Amino acid sequence: MKVLKFGGSSVRDPQMILRVIDIARACLNEAPVLVASAMGKTTDALQDAAEAAETGERDRAEQLIDRIDSDHVCTAKALCTGTERVPLMTAIAALTAELRSLIHGITLIRECSPRSKDAVLSFGERLSTTIVASAARERGLDTTLVDARTLIRTDASFAAATPDMTATAELVSVGLDPQPGSLIVTQGFIASTADGVTTTLGRGGSDFTATILGAALGAKAVEIWTDVDGIMTADPRVIDGARTIPAISYDEAAELAYFGAKVVHPYTILPAVRREIPVWVKNTSRPESPGTRITGRSDSAGIRAVASKSGITLVTIRSSRMLNAYGFLQALFAIFDRHKVSVDLVATSEVSVSMTVDQSTELGPLERELQELGRVEIESGKSIVCLVGRDLFQRSGFVSEVFAAVDPAHVRLISLGSSEINLSLVVDEAETEGVLRRLHEKLLAP
Ligand code: ASP
Ligand code: MG
Repeated sequence: MKVLKFGGSSVRDPQMILRVIDIARACLNEAPVLVASAMGKTTDALQDAAEAAETGERDRAEQLIDRIDSDHVCTAKALCTGTERVPLMTAIAALTAELRSLIHGITLIRECSPRSKDAVLSFGERLSTTIVASAARERGLDTTLVDARTLIRTDASFAAATPDMTATAELVSVGLDPQPGSLIVTQGFIASTADGVTTTLGRGGSDFTATILGAALGAKAVEIWTDVDGIMTADPRVIDGARTIPAISYDEAAELAYFGAKVVHPYTILPAVRREIPVWVKNTSRPESPGTRITGRSDSAGIRAVASKSGITLVTIRSSRMLNAYGFLQALFAIFDRHKVSVDLVATSEVSVSMTVDQSTELGPLERELQELGRVEIESGKSIVCLVGRDLFQRSGFVSEVFAAVDPAHVRLISLGSSEINLSLVVDEAETEGVLRRLHEKLLAP
């Protein structure tokens, strides 16, 4: 069997939902479990409504709920004109009535605890999956809607609950029985405690639901269907020739996510990766394009992508005390530790240490303490450009190619991870785009 997860943009309107149903139909013999997010920006609207209710803006809260209600009713009417119409309308009316009384309650007591907020947010996925299941049924698919709250057991940390994998595996083995020829539809994002109280896995948590279910079921694959063709070799808004990466390892994807390529949050796919279940990223609007396969280990050496992160500050300490002395770096990092400042890249020589930190970090107090160790220089307006891949050095002439591509930019720091999955360069922000473009052209052009 396999798990297909569709994000909010993939179920945002009737046309998209029809695509989703086509994709599910095409893999019906693989016993699909379909996990759906809330439609479009519904979760944001629910969040706004809960906040408005809490601050006593009753009219605003009601308007937001009216809008959510009518959006879902319109979508449902567009998709179901036959036998499913009446049961679907009844189900939507029951859900929105429950949502309205919850919001009304929050308005009365002017308090919305994280627990109440999770209850409010759950309606997005409960509504969307009700519609998707009816629409699939009306198109002849043998479809069962299963409430994810009966499958995924979490602790009571509302807003970002932690799943109990053992209890979940048990619930899944009892509550889900995917069969070739039928479709199971369930909600992403929502779960429940042992007492049956609704929780959520945190914003964007539907991917997590998909991989938790995939892991519990021992799925053949988990497919994350979204609005891009997969993970790209570079940011397509910056680099014209950016292409989809066919296959990437979990580590490499995590490295790229740090640089903002957040197609999937690495942490949310861990349950699948741990069980060696491949995770695919696919485009709902272009199902024919192959997408990106993410696996625990990548099978091939090579450069996968370039990425960058701006807003970086370079901190350099120069001190002759470092010469032939031990304990210097420990003293240095102890200061960063005390100030809770996280360091990303480090390069050392006999007399100096350079480090990068996030530009938003307040450096004043830290700098004063560092001055006790040596001369401190702080330069902001830098960025990190990073090449991600496996066994980068196996490519002959790799280093000279990189330097040729970087030229004429001024490189302030270079760091090559011992894992050989990334090479990072610190350059001026103004030079970032040029460096990215030249690196992509030289090392990633087809
Ligand atoms: N609907 C939820 C959100 O918007 C979960 C998700 O989309 O993954 O955060
Ligand atoms: Mg989403």
